[in-house]
Amino acid sequence: MAKLLDKQRYKCALGAMQTVQAIDRALPILHSGPGCAQKLSESTGSSGYFSPNIFPCTSINEKDVVFGGVKKLDSTIGNALKVIDADLYVVLTGCIPEIVGDDSGEVVSRYEDAEKPVVYAPTAGFKGNNYKGHEQVIDAIVDQYLKKTDKKQKGLVNIWADVPYQDLFWLGNLRQLEKLIAELGLTPNTIFGYKRGIENINKIPEAEFNLLVSPWVGLSNVKKMEKKFGTPYLHYPNLPIGATETSKFLREVGKFAGVAEEKVEAVIKEHEDYYYYLISRYADLFLENRVINKQFTVVADAQYSLAVTKFLVNDLGLIPAKQFVVDDTPKNHRDRITEEFKKLNFGIEAEVSFETDGYKIHEEIKTHDYHGYPLLLGGYYEKEVTENLKGNFLNISWPVQDKVVFDSFYAGYEGGIRLIEDIYTIAVSRFN
Ligand code: SF4
Repeated sequence: MAKLLDKQRYKCALGAMQTVQAIDRALPILHSGPGCAQKLSESTGSSGYFSPNIFPCTSINEKDVVFGGVKKLDSTIGNALKVIDADLYVVLTGCIPEIVGDDSGEVVSRYEDAEKPVVYAPTAGFKGNNYKGHEQVIDAIVDQYLKKTDKKQKGLVNIWADVPYQDLFWLGNLRQLEKLIAELGLTPNTIFGYKRGIENINKIPEAEFNLLVSPWVGLSNVKKMEKKFGTPYLHYPNLPIGATETSKFLREVGKFAGVAEEKVEAVIKEHEDYYYYLISRYADLFLENRVINKQFTVVADAQYSLAVTKFLVNDLGLIPAKQFVVDDTPKNHRDRITEEFKKLNFGIEAEVSFETDGYKIHEEIKTHDYHGYPLLLGGYYEKEVTENLKGNFLNISWPVQDKVVFDSFYAGYEGGIRLIEDIYTIAVSRFN
């Protein structure tokens, strides 16, 4: 039976044009109806060299539904190659051409010998959301562009983490992960953001291993790369925020990469010393404030819901009420992620619900007794319900409408401090 989904937290798979856009000088070419890119035009931080308003699009209409849209796709790709200077062209298909059976892959294959690479990702909305679309784009690059090589670079690590733009902190988080990996003496390789792009894409098959920092998004990609390039992978299932999780992360990566234990511990010690120096300066604020209650709820995708829960329990000593994962996590990953929510310090376990319906989430939040002001971290949708409960609200997940994020981040030791600043800024400003 059809059901109504209230307050959806993701876009359709075609939203993966944001993944393409995050690759420097990569251009999405849309084979879709004219309105499909429009939904991204109001997102912040996505203007620049290419933006959703100027992505080439076949703008297919009723006539193309009847006679097929492959001719239009062919001319759109050909003209894009002629007039738009990009390093990589990624054709993304929407619902209509896939329903009417356009063979977009065949059209793209005509450009095999083009000067610049052209690949194709099937991203019809009915196939899933933009988390799946993100995986499709990476798969397309791996399957259709990259080649297996015997050349391997010792210490080169491909890092995969957040879904760009869906997570507003993607750029800063990736840079933090790069920094941490470099401190271990390894060479990070990421493909998203400033001065990365095609050169870094070309290095992917040369890496010693893939590092996936995510509960589930990207797992199929690193498995594919293991099969195609023989690149092993380390799946680290949560974004490390704060000292406890970041130190664990460094130890696990160090062990996997064969970095000397003394070196890993030296890196950890330097970070932890400064981290706890900062924490101790504000211990009175944590212990004596009367407005950050012990119980909290996170409403976010699996990446943030898990990462923030671990941070708030392990580093700040807060107690989890129910946590909500809203990214429509595929069922085969849910048990494993549920187990991760139980691996918290002090023997604490968090209950988690995989729920995409905002109405149901809010009903549960409203009826839970937080024993004081609830602390809610989530999408902008949670602002009103938190205000009605006289709680404290921080907008950390999509949709983000009360902050502008350039390259801020929550990952790593520094990211943990930034998150504490944001939470306690709310606390101290509450009675101003
Ligand atoms: S669901 Fe289909 S028709 Fe709607 S925006 Fe996405 S690709 Fe376009």
